[in-house]
Amino acid sequence: MNKQVKLTFYGGVGSVTGANFLLEIDGKKILIDCGLVQGFKLADDVNWDPFVYNPEEIDILFVSHAHVDHLGRIPKLIKEGFRGKIYSTEPTRGLALPMLEDTAGILGQNTDLDLDKIYTPENIKLTLSFWQGFSYHEKIQITENVEVCFLNAGHILGSAMIEFVYNGKKILFTGDLGNSPSPLLPDTEKVTDADYLIMESVYGDRNHESKDDRRRLLAETIQDNHKRKGTLIIPTFSLERSQELLFELDTLLESERIPVMPIFFDSPLAIRLTEVFKQYKNYLNENAQKAVSSGKYLFDFPGLHNTLKSEESKMINTMPDPKIVIAGSGMSTGGRIVHHERHYLPDPNNTLLLTGYQSVGTPGRLIQEGVKTVHITGEDVVVRAHVVTILGYSGHKDSDGLLNFVEDMQDSVKKVFVVMGEPKSSMFLVQKLRDNLGIEASAPEQGSSVTLEC
Ligand SMILES: [Zn+2]
Repeated sequence: MNKQVKLTFYGGVGSVTGANFLLEIDGKKILIDCGLVQGFKLADDVNWDPFVYNPEEIDILFVSHAHVDHLGRIPKLIKEGFRGKIYSTEPTRGLALPMLEDTAGILGQNTDLDLDKIYTPENIKLTLSFWQGFSYHEKIQITENVEVCFLNAGHILGSAMIEFVYNGKKILFTGDLGNSPSPLLPDTEKVTDADYLIMESVYGDRNHESKDDRRRLLAETIQDNHKRKGTLIIPTFSLERSQELLFELDTLLESERIPVMPIFFDSPLAIRLTEVFKQYKNYLNENAQKAVSSGKYLFDFPGLHNTLKSEESKMINTMPDPKIVIAGSGMSTGGRIVHHERHYLPDPNNTLLLTGYQSVGTPGRLIQEGVKTVHITGEDVVVRAHVVTILGYSGHKDSDGLLNFVEDMQDSVKKVFVVMGEPKSSMFLVQKLRDNLGIEASAPEQGSSVTLEC
């Protein structure tokens, strides 16, 4: 006999951020992700509106991965009465605490948002106390009839798709899907038998540049900067991209494709997160694990300095060139990178290397577009340094990658809900799924519900 499941799209529709879906299945209320809504700011004011549903009634929250747009509102969920269980993979649980504490630190600087009430140490402690970590493919029985497991999404360490099996039918939430192959992570798992798919569409309407050249371009950028005896500054995201970059630098040094020079890893959050990577190295791909098993330490190589304290960070400017500085934030909207940019951008011997997506309007995007002067932390800075962009390191599948992912389940899938993308991107993917694969697909609206026959 058919059973009905209700799915409501509370967040992460018409937008890349704020993922939040409610699944009502076999008498249980299950949330999938509870992320911050982010636009130009780390958190839009809308995050402070009360949840539309009653958090006290939620039984379990499943978390796909540790990015803030997927877990950043959990302390708020706790504040509004959630006392259920939180399930994710083990590394996601490990990464959650540094990510939440860092978010609290940044948001806490804005006193008019009542943040103290949400990100209290008590709420963060409660979050972790409700939280249980699982391995990929470990079966989680949530009712007599519903079984859940995490599948590898290949996006960041511990990132997962979440698969619900009910009455023989499979409902799959993709979370974010990685741009495999990644230097560090195993490839996104192939899924061939989902009935209902709720999928991301960050790059639903665009394809990436080739990944083949990324390591060569990185090596050339470093060599050029070394020849000019300049400083190479790299703004990066603290989670995944930073560790990926360290791994690439290690590989290039090992094969003597770049010379040894001081490399400053100047991000307290990234340093903390790197420790979690070391703890869960069994979640890395075979190649990365092999690199460690040869007696080497992961993310440790000649010339690398972790500068945790701000005094150490300030000393970097006095160190002789050539050198490399890696710091956050990834789009130069804050963090230690902005101090380095003020110092190094005016000198034509230096290089700024961009490896991540730069949102419209951010200083990173303006520099990428070739402005001669950029406004950074209240000061106009002249840009004379070389500016290089390497796009092959994106963390998301591109449009073709997303289509190929769905093609594997073409025979089984009854309906695809395209979420977590800008409207243009989601609609483009919906059209592609209909036209190229003949699959029923839609981009749901915020707050809308659907019934899934199981
Ligand atoms: Zn993500």
